[in-house]
Amino acid sequence: MFDYLIVGAGFAGSVLAERLASQLDKRVLIIDKRPHIAGNAFDHYNEDGILVHKYGPHIFHTNSKEVFDYLSQFTAWRPYEHRVLASVDGQLVPMPINLDTINKLYGLSLTSFEVDDFFKSVAEEVSPVRTSEDVVVSKVGRELYEKFFRNYTRKQWGMDPSELDKSVTSRVPVRINRDDRYFTDTFQAMPLHGYTSMFEKLLAHPNIKIMLNTDYHEILNVIPFKEMIYTGPVDEFFDFRFGKLPYRSLGFKHETLDTLVYLPAAVVNYPNEHAYTRITEFKYLTGQQHSKTSVVYEYPQAEGDPYYPVPRPENAAIYNQYKKLADATPGVHFVGRLATYKYYNMDQVVAQALTLYKKLAGQEEVLPFLDGASIGHNGHSVKLNGVGLQVETKSNGKAT
Ligand code: FAD
Ligand code: UDP
Repeated sequence: MFDYLIVGAGFAGSVLAERLASQLDKRVLIIDKRPHIAGNAFDHYNEDGILVHKYGPHIFHTNSKEVFDYLSQFTAWRPYEHRVLASVDGQLVPMPINLDTINKLYGLSLTSFEVDDFFKSVAEEVSPVRTSEDVVVSKVGRELYEKFFRNYTRKQWGMDPSELDKSVTSRVPVRINRDDRYFTDTFQAMPLHGYTSMFEKLLAHPNIKIMLNTDYHEILNVIPFKEMIYTGPVDEFFDFRFGKLPYRSLGFKHETLDTLVYLPAAVVNYPNEHAYTRITEFKYLTGQQHSKTSVVYEYPQAEGDPYYPVPRPENAAIYNQYKKLADATPGVHFVGRLATYKYYNMDQVVAQALTLYKKLAGQEEVLPFLDGASIGHNGHSVKLNGVGLQVETKSNGKAT
């Protein structure tokens, strides 16, 4: 009997597996339908021996000392500050837009004060700022919005920025100084030996069993467990009862080139040309020395593996229906980017998982006498909040 079945071996599932096993001595089965651990952060050495990220570039950055210290137990780090160029009007210019971007784009030599005045002179007054269009035009005006954001966003999301929450383009700041780093977080570093190696250490506890190539439906009625932690898409868990939640997908085209360096920066964004949004050259991220180089092109698409929740009011309304159902489903905890439908970075998912762990551990302390109290049903037994509530199991094995 496992204490926990954890569905999904990405950050959310693996952090919880590690905490529950190492701190509470729980027996954990973590499964993934993919043939590997690490979820979307999975990296591996390709056939030429270059370390690449299978699901697109993953750059670690956080302001949370707690998250950084936690992960530091499982990896050493390589200091790394990410830089991105955007291809606009036939030039490669710094992105996020900064003082140098404007000077290069327009052939000017403005100072920080002058560029601030320039932004103010072109900014549109928008009130309230609601959408991803509002956020950009209210800072840098329509021309820069169209050059840098409008088409990139249309390509990436399959919809206009005016149809997306402001939170999407708010991820990218605008600067009046020359800082050309993509992120300004306190902690910016890459796992020295890669993400997968870090996940191997996270999951290397005798109480943790790993099962790959397995969809949870295949084992739900076969392997007994007390509680479930679910990190897959929340709508799928509930058989799309309130309709499909849109998740944006990507196609990745990986290429190895017989040249030492291919791009002038780790990432080049293409807002206005090509079907792909950006090209990433992995050696910048990993620091690997190699005579060849590997890159990945990202092609946004509607169908395929779910990668991004799509932040907009219509989708939030659907998600809230699922959330109510999730909250009322005893014995199952929903966590992570897909299960809570949040456009979270890795560090936010780690923080969310640590928060859920504390809640689970807190319940243990408050109700120690009920630990392990569970009831069985079709080989699937559950408990939550110390209350032995029976979860109905339908013929397809999904908890209702
Ligand atoms: P996932 O990593 O998606 O893990 C969920 C797992 O559940 C998957 O492995 C899936 O196979 C499994 N699963 C789903 N359904 C089932 C089922 N029915 N049965 C069994 N298993 C199942 N974040 C950053 O901080 N920095 C970045 O630079 C960055 N870049 C990104 C680039 C791209 C292209 C993408 C898509 C994301 C990026 N992210 C980045 C976000 C980051 O990938 C996520 O925050 C993080 O991986 C989410 O972890 P998770 O555990 O919630 O989900
Ligand atoms: N974005 C844009 N142009 C760019 C970079 C970003 O329009 O050159 C917008 C786009 O909508 C994108 C969002 O800002 O989806 C967030 O960008 P980020 O680089 O954080 O996306 P991610 O790395 O999560 O794909």
